[in-house]
Amino acid sequence: MTEWQKSAWREKPRVQMPDYTDDSALKAVEAQLSKYPPLVFAGEARSLKRDLAAAGRGEAFLLQGGDCAEAFDQFSADAIRDTFKVMLQMAMILTYGAKVPVVKVGRMAGQFAKPRSAPTEAKDGQELPSYRGDIINELAFTPEARIPDPKRMLQAYTQAAATLNLLRAFSTGGYADVHQVHAWTLGFTESEKAAAYRDMANRISDTLDFMKAAGLESDTNHNLRTVDFYTSHEALLLEYEEALCRLDSTSGKWLAGSGHMIWIGDRTRQPDGAHVEFARGVLNPVGLKCGPSLTADDLKVLMARLNPSNEAGKLTLIARFGAGKTAEHLPRLIEAVRSEGANVTWVCDPMHGNTIKSASGYKTRPFDAVLREVRDFFAVHRAEGTVPGGVHFEMTGLDVTECTGGVQAVSDENLSDRYHTACDPRLNASQSLELAFLVAEELTS
Ligand code: PEP
Ligand code: MN
Repeated sequence: MTEWQKSAWREKPRVQMPDYTDDSALKAVEAQLSKYPPLVFAGEARSLKRDLAAAGRGEAFLLQGGDCAEAFDQFSADAIRDTFKVMLQMAMILTYGAKVPVVKVGRMAGQFAKPRSAPTEAKDGQELPSYRGDIINELAFTPEARIPDPKRMLQAYTQAAATLNLLRAFSTGGYADVHQVHAWTLGFTESEKAAAYRDMANRISDTLDFMKAAGLESDTNHNLRTVDFYTSHEALLLEYEEALCRLDSTSGKWLAGSGHMIWIGDRTRQPDGAHVEFARGVLNPVGLKCGPSLTADDLKVLMARLNPSNEAGKLTLIARFGAGKTAEHLPRLIEAVRSEGANVTWVCDPMHGNTIKSASGYKTRPFDAVLREVRDFFAVHRAEGTVPGGVHFEMTGLDVTECTGGVQAVSDENLSDRYHTACDPRLNASQSLELAFLVAEELTS
């Protein structure tokens, strides 16, 4: 193949991208974004790649989570803090229970563009273009709101930069200090899992007290006081991605400066399409969503294209088949990986194959289906002798009622109580903790 260019995707067939009508406005935004600083740096993307390689070998475990879609009007420091906090708690449960280091990656600071199952939506007899995420158009159901506006990219960049700034402060400024393991619980709705978390936190505190008393821990121990927290999003809006691409002077390679890790969605993974063309050229770790329609032959082509030098940690395969379908699809894809001798990190997304419409009309996900897909994922890897390297969740630290079930038993009728997502239903804090305990059990069994 010829040398990669950041704009070469423009020559390829594209799907799920907006048709901007005002070309000069689009060009002006692209020119402006091209001058802005990248949000992440090449060295960070390389560290994440190293961590994901460890997850692929079973020496670490990936916890990737956050909103389905970040929204301009739900942007707040508290929401970011709460999701960050639940992810720290989940990581603590996994580290303590399963004794593996956890690689923490937010679906945050850039997760704004959404692929949709249909180009239009109808309501009350009116048909309008679908909402495609705040970086593209507006959720309000009016013809004006649904016109793609390139200027929204600038607001997305600003929100992503502010989000990342806060995440960096939380990660290194004392908040993520393991001695705070108790403080992370405060403000949570009481549940059986919150109590289980508190028990674990007590044991961790005892251990820390012991280490200190025995002179094994100094007050400045960096590993206990800070965490690495990375960002990721679906690289769907390629004008935005291209404008934030930067040449890394150390390696001479291109960095997607929009986030540490990017992924390709299940609807945009055509081997000859625009999204694969863009992602194949950047040095960042790349995820690939693998749904039931992915053939073994396509996967082989995609692995060769996205990771031609077979670098460990470069390619994460995110399985999302739906409860009850993993045993049918995962083994044939594992076989394709095996036959190519490809290095990949396998991750389970138990969300996107389990979306249903509830009787009350809300899009939801039954917690039982989510649990079942996670269990199936581990069972298949156990049977195949391969490594389950991580999980990918749509979740929030807020106490929403978007997925049914869990120990708090959110019912169909409860969905309307606190249903705030702009797109897919998320696990709430309590459901996220419950899932983390289950994953920890699977990892130790
Ligand atoms: C998503 O992760 O929000 C998404 C749309 O996933 P998928 O491409 O797997 O459907
Ligand atoms: Mn989603």
